[in-house]
Amino acid sequence: MQLKTTRKICTGLFSLLVLFCTTATAQPDNTPYIVVLGVAQDAGYPQIACAKACCRPAWADRDRRRSVAALGLVDPVSRQYWLIDATPDIRTQLHELRKMAPEMTFGGVFLTHAHIGHYTGLMHFGREAMGARDIPVFAMPRMRQFLSQNGPWELLLRLHNISLKPLSADSTLNVRPHLSITPMAVPHRDEYSETVGFRIEAGGKSVLYIPDIDKWDKWQKKIEDVLRTVDVALLDGSFYEDGELPNRDMSEIPHPFISESMRRFDTLAPEQRSKVVFIHFNHTNPVLQPGSQARREIEKRGYNVATQGMIIPLAEGSSR
Ligand SMILES: [Zn+2]
Ligand SMILES: [Zn+2]
Ligand SMILES: [Zn+2]
Repeated sequence: MQLKTTRKICTGLFSLLVLFCTTATAQPDNTPYIVVLGVAQDAGYPQIACAKACCRPAWADRDRRRSVAALGLVDPVSRQYWLIDATPDIRTQLHELRKMAPEMTFGGVFLTHAHIGHYTGLMHFGREAMGARDIPVFAMPRMRQFLSQNGPWELLLRLHNISLKPLSADSTLNVRPHLSITPMAVPHRDEYSETVGFRIEAGGKSVLYIPDIDKWDKWQKKIEDVLRTVDVALLDGSFYEDGELPNRDMSEIPHPFISESMRRFDTLAPEQRSKVVFIHFNHTNPVLQPGSQARREIEKRGYNVATQGMIIPLAEGSSR
């Protein structure tokens, strides 16, 4: 599924949810929706100093570049929008979101964890850039402590550019009466903060977002059980398979490879598999290459690949 310059209806990808793909400038109706603002791992695509075959096409052609994984959440009812994660690409991502939600209010940012692709965009709220006033930043306890005790983030707090709002694992926050977000703690390299994924719910639909997690077995929840309770699951697809990083022992990289996730989910019913949308691709991931064998394999086996600009409506039988 590619983002096209004209409106395109993508049917048959999600059996329970008809997903409509629109351009980033499409006018919303009253259905809250999620927009995928980036699909790459923390370092973006192409990656700094990479002159290998994986990144050469993207250095040569701007259209092949991809932003760091983030979601926008737009609620036309309350006329507000939010960001899920503040990435190094926040300038263009917030711009895209503002274009999609004209005259709506920025409701703040929900942070998954303290790795560079997920929170460092906060710096653009400071006085060197936006000079924002008390933008709500929703974060877990260790993440809040990290931001309050370390520069340059604590300066954003002292100057009231941002204001921290508490999240707690498995505790549902009603962002609006009809719209809720629930953080779920997941295992990951937690040097500075804990890591969460989010379950976002509105209008009887729910979307799971887990951009970073260690192997599925390390999670206290069973991913298949969680999958059953949501309509769409945007899941860690950092690496396609073992051996993708030629000079590195990939056992040190505990992400679930897409090939492993597919093997695990292959026994599920087609309607469960079709909920899975892989995201957060490392620059080496062949999924980033259009028409690649890896991409075809994912789609052939009933799963999906996230695309920048993809829209996921949050309402029963919604059409946009
Ligand atoms: Zn990440
Ligand atoms: Zn590369
Ligand atoms: Zn991470």
